[in-house]
Amino acid sequence: MPIPQETDIRLLKGIGDAKAKQLLRLGDFTVWDLLTYFPVRFEDRSKVTKIFDLTHDSMALVNGIVVTPVSEHYVRKGLTYYKVQIRDDTGIATCIFFNNKYLKNYLKKGYEYSFYGKININRNTKEILSPEFEPSSQSQCTKCIVPIYPLTSGITQKFLRKMVADAYRGFHKYFREVIPADILKEHSLCSVEFAIKNIHFPKDAEALEIAKKRLIFEEFFLLQVALRKMKSGTKKVSGPAFKNNDITEFLTALPFSLTKAQKRVTEDIIDDLSSGTVMNRLVQGDVGSGKTVIAAISMYLCAKNGYQTAMMAPTEVLARQHYNDLSPLLESLGIKCELLTGSTTAKNKRKIYERLENGETNAIFGTHALITDKVKFSSLALAITDEQHRFGVRQRMMLSEKGKVVHTLVMTATPIPRTLALIVYGDMDISVIDELPPGRQRIDTYCVGENMRERIYAFIRKEIEKGNRAYIVCPAVEESEIEGLKSVEEHYSALSKSIFPDIPVGIVHGKMKAKDKETAMSDFISGKSKILVSTTVIEVGVNVPEATLMVIENAERFGLSQLHQLRGRVGRGKEKSYCVLFCASYSDETKERMKIMAQSNDGFKISETDLKLRGPGDFFGTRQHGELSFKIADLANDFSVLKASGIEAEKLLLKDPALSEEKHFYIKEATDKLADNLTL
Ligand code: ADP
Ligand code: MG
Repeated sequence: MPIPQETDIRLLKGIGDAKAKQLLRLGDFTVWDLLTYFPVRFEDRSKVTKIFDLTHDSMALVNGIVVTPVSEHYVRKGLTYYKVQIRDDTGIATCIFFNNKYLKNYLKKGYEYSFYGKININRNTKEILSPEFEPSSQSQCTKCIVPIYPLTSGITQKFLRKMVADAYRGFHKYFREVIPADILKEHSLCSVEFAIKNIHFPKDAEALEIAKKRLIFEEFFLLQVALRKMKSGTKKVSGPAFKNNDITEFLTALPFSLTKAQKRVTEDIIDDLSSGTVMNRLVQGDVGSGKTVIAAISMYLCAKNGYQTAMMAPTEVLARQHYNDLSPLLESLGIKCELLTGSTTAKNKRKIYERLENGETNAIFGTHALITDKVKFSSLALAITDEQHRFGVRQRMMLSEKGKVVHTLVMTATPIPRTLALIVYGDMDISVIDELPPGRQRIDTYCVGENMRERIYAFIRKEIEKGNRAYIVCPAVEESEIEGLKSVEEHYSALSKSIFPDIPVGIVHGKMKAKDKETAMSDFISGKSKILVSTTVIEVGVNVPEATLMVIENAERFGLSQLHQLRGRVGRGKEKSYCVLFCASYSDETKERMKIMAQSNDGFKISETDLKLRGPGDFFGTRQHGELSFKIADLANDFSVLKASGIEAEKLLLKDPALSEEKHFYIKEATDKLADNLTL
């Protein structure tokens, strides 16, 4: 049985390796992916306009008989245009095509075709520019409502339309109905077959709405089933109740006192840990709000009660920093700490595994290396994930599964808008650190163009002379194919050799060896280097209080939340800090985004704007990671469907928690796959 979900698109006629490659840029491509590659909009090409009635600058569909052969007009290399005259019973028009040398094979004098294109009327000639056309007996791209897809280079609308139509024709008998029949009925949803057909080639506006409604429902439904299923494992299970919850000793050893917000969150956590029920808590706090110390307090409590803790961070740089920052303090209180990352040597790894398993180690810091099979604990009771938005939900779960009953604490700087938090962290308790440590000043942010470069360099020099440090972030690692994009390596060599030859400059990026990254970071932390040229590897969590200046090259390339994260690397000490955004181009959207950055230091406000400007997909950085993005649903507009499908998801899992009933097989399959790809 040809299952569209499992069929490579190359099996479709007309898609060879080259086309498949181009399509792959749109994501992994099976026939089902193609069929669920939804149009962004539609063009209503159902109404025919007579040539006499054509109006300038409009889009129109004309039925006309070709009355001249195709004529060729060479302008210059790379630009040839082709003309052909057509007529209907009201007048004559000229169709103009560019660089289409095979046109004469398709347009024959004396035959009637339908043309759809932009109308240009000058003086008394009526032109149709680059029209799409087909014999008037056909109605694939004319005389119907036509889907317009988001494109990637090398792929045309016409090609996609044809492929989708072919895929539908060949596979619609094998579509899987994932929504149970009773739910379809209850919510008056159409069949999957009708939905897929009409989302691409709607019979009329009504059919399109019906198709959309079903697909939006399905998307939200599957997501919520997937999330609930994963979470059900952590719900209200009884867990180790901590008895020794006095943190005075820890607070005395801490060089600062907690902010009110930190105290509140600490109390939440102590309540959880001592309750006898497993903790499942998300701590949300803007960059620099002081989440790390909250983790440290939890680790301290855990050790004091005789259990082990693991704290996982998304990058090696960050895991190491947590270890370096916290282990002296924790060790001074008698807590044995270790660090485990991908670059820990095999020999050391073996020792670390041993000490974890025999209980010698109380607290372990690390990266994904912590969730490999070899890592076993004697008494893990607390799993902390820092910068949760960088991990898959599954990965966080895997860490918790390393103990019998494990309290979970996840920390994120991503200020999740309420609607998202509801579905994503539905049954997690949330604590918010809504206050920065005292003495912090606003980070002044400026958006500048190339003409300011000299002055910015002079400014960097002045800051360094004052004893401060600066980050310079570039969007690319190597010399880039895209013109005008600053690469770390090039920029580093220019800065270190000719612009600041007298100042020690460091470089760090993701493609460097772990050892070199570590050296670069520790040099910058100790002040051995004063300027650090980097990619976004420093985006999450890195803490160097002496750094007061963040310069971001090609700032237009970054998302707002990402810029805010990067900016959060400065302003961590007492000194006044600055952020300079170099922009190489200014679209209206860029202008808008940079204005927000300059005006606001509030991560929540920035992320809401980001959500508005770019949509929820990009909010979670989907383009890079393939996370929570919606193919068709829209969190802002489809809220009632979100709620309705959430209720159904809950009911379903009450009836069949493991989705083991045969009629739920396809939901199980679809949601398992979804869960594997979720990173929230
Ligand atoms: P984030 O929330 O971004 O993870 P960190 O935990 O890295 O923030 O804290 C940022 C900086 O603020 C660190 O240098 C930390 O030592 C300091 N800090 C945290 N809490 C306080 C506090 N209550 N008073 C003073 N400094 C604090
Ligand atoms: Mg942090």
